[in-house]
Amino acid sequence: MGRVFVAGSINMDVVATADRHPRVGETVAGREVLYFPGGKGANQAVAASRLGAKTTLIGRLGKDSFGAELKTFLGAQGIDLGSVRDADTHTGTAIITVAASDNTIVVIPGSNAQVGADDVADVPLAKGDVAVSQFEIPLPTIAAFFRRAREAGVMTVLNPAPAQKMSGELLALVDILVLNETELGFLAGVELTDADETAKIIDVARKLQARADQTICITLGKRGVLALAGREEVAVPGHAVKAVDTTGAGDCFVGALAAQLADGVPLRAALAFANAAASISVQRMGAGPSMPTATEVAAVLR
Ligand code: ATP
Repeated sequence: MGRVFVAGSINMDVVATADRHPRVGETVAGREVLYFPGGKGANQAVAASRLGAKTTLIGRLGKDSFGAELKTFLGAQGIDLGSVRDADTHTGTAIITVAASDNTIVVIPGSNAQVGADDVADVPLAKGDVAVSQFEIPLPTIAAFFRRAREAGVMTVLNPAPAQKMSGELLALVDILVLNETELGFLAGVELTDADETAKIIDVARKLQARADQTICITLGKRGVLALAGREEVAVPGHAVKAVDTTGAGDCFVGALAAQLADGVPLRAALAFANAAASISVQRMGAGPSMPTATEVAAVLR
């Protein structure tokens, strides 16, 4: 069984709840403040580790109380933190205000902006491992990580979220691209919505495909997932569940897919597993804490 290496962001999400949002310049009394471990890198590592994959996280934390708390939480999930280094700035933080079921979010990358090429230079990648990243650390770092991975015969998985433009060189380093339809539309320069027909979505994926052997997986929320694997199309329908909080569903999907691929599971079966895992995560609150175990996923697939 290979290992999962995730190079990515680690954040503390600070959530303030209030009856209404303040206007600019105004102060309102809130109800409570909640702290959630977050960041796409950390969430995906938690998903992979909970599902039984040996998982290493590569990232940076500030030498502050959030950094210490996040280390404790991630260590308790069984994640190897030997490649998480100190930053000389504060830990990545998201300040989220929730009022009347709308939210506003300010994300300050902090330590995540300091994850550099030197952080991925000495990671012990070996054939059979899976290298995973997302767009909350600098893109040149991801390119350096994936270049090393490909030299070592390691599969690369990129979740290009939050969406930003990337070079053709980085895209060509990706074996499996996992994104939602909005992100696919953004990267391809086409407007796509979740109501679009699968034939149109696959058509756009085909245009984006950078190599003939590249796989593009498009997550479609409750509709499940579509994939273009080389020339082959794969559709995995969603599970009908009562979703209470879809935060981190995409991260659960990516972590679960990486865990399966590191275990040597073929793509189709790995997609079905990740789709089932993500359908469990949407039935629970939060991101990190909502990630399922392999036993729970097996029960859904039975
Ligand atoms: P987020 O940004 O909220 O993490 P996303 O847009 O990256 O989400 P989605 O496509 O919404 O990702 O969801 C990822 C996967 O989670 C889907 O492919 C599906 O497997 C599962 N999923 C999401 N929403 C639902 C739902 N309502 N019912 C069942 N499965 C769901």
